[in-house]
Amino acid sequence: MIQVSGLSKQFESTKVLNEIDLTVSKGEVIAILGPSGSGKTTLLRCLSFLENATQGFLTFNGKTYDMTRVTKKQIRSIRMKLGFVFQGFNLFRNKTALQNVTEGLTTARHISKTDAEKKAHEMLKKVGMDYRSDFYPDELSGGQQQRVAIARAIAANPEVILFDEPTSALDPELTGEVLSVMKKLAEEGTTMIVVTHEMSFAQKVASHVIFMEDGVIVEEGAARDFFAHPKEERTIRFLKKSSIDYDYSI
Ligand code: ADP
Ligand code: MG
Repeated sequence: MIQVSGLSKQFESTKVLNEIDLTVSKGEVIAILGPSGSGKTTLLRCLSFLENATQGFLTFNGKTYDMTRVTKKQIRSIRMKLGFVFQGFNLFRNKTALQNVTEGLTTARHISKTDAEKKAHEMLKKVGMDYRSDFYPDELSGGQQQRVAIARAIAANPEVILFDEPTSALDPELTGEVLSVMKKLAEEGTTMIVVTHEMSFAQKVASHVIFMEDGVIVEEGAARDFFAHPKEERTIRFLKKSSIDYDYSI
């Protein structure tokens, strides 16, 4: 469904991504792991054209794009099929949970207000937040805000959802509720690329794991093999350091 080849990104003189290849099939959950500064966010930003790649090709739904030469129209059409969930929730503070979900549907997708609200209630229900549909972000906990952000992302029926450390801004006791919503989406067959530090989540939910460091993929593989038999010394060191990670029993 998505194939990236030779993706590189350079900021001034620093190469932040170096010839990244990535394949995502329908229904797959890809976990991207790696220490801070390894290029994980930049990878997601290049995939969604929030950042211009220095080099690389993207094949999406059978069409191949030179990532350095895409038109605004092509970017718009690719983005319509992507959902995003960021670390900082990014909800509109002056809109209720419901309005945060309907906004993109009525403006970018020209869905009628009635249909958008129906869809938004459905999605909020799915993340366990419909009972707070009239609440403003400031009246919600971080975990609840992130669940609204997930409802917003799935409301547009994206083909793939990109998550950038969706729980890292949350207190530990709120992390579990967000991870369980994500697990549910995964079980329903949602295609997801998830940058995360939650090893137990990656272990239980991901089908494929990518470990990055310094802008390159150090190791990748089926989640089961990756955690059971990591091959690279750097991966082993990283996994050892992360083993204190709390198991949220999602
Ligand atoms: P990660 O998400 O894995 O922590 P990032 O993708 O955020 O890593 O960053 C990778 C590297 O790119 C870091 O060294 C960071 O300082 C650098 N970087 C990220 N964005 C910019 C930018 N806009 N300008 C210059 N350097 C950047
Ligand atoms: Mg990051």
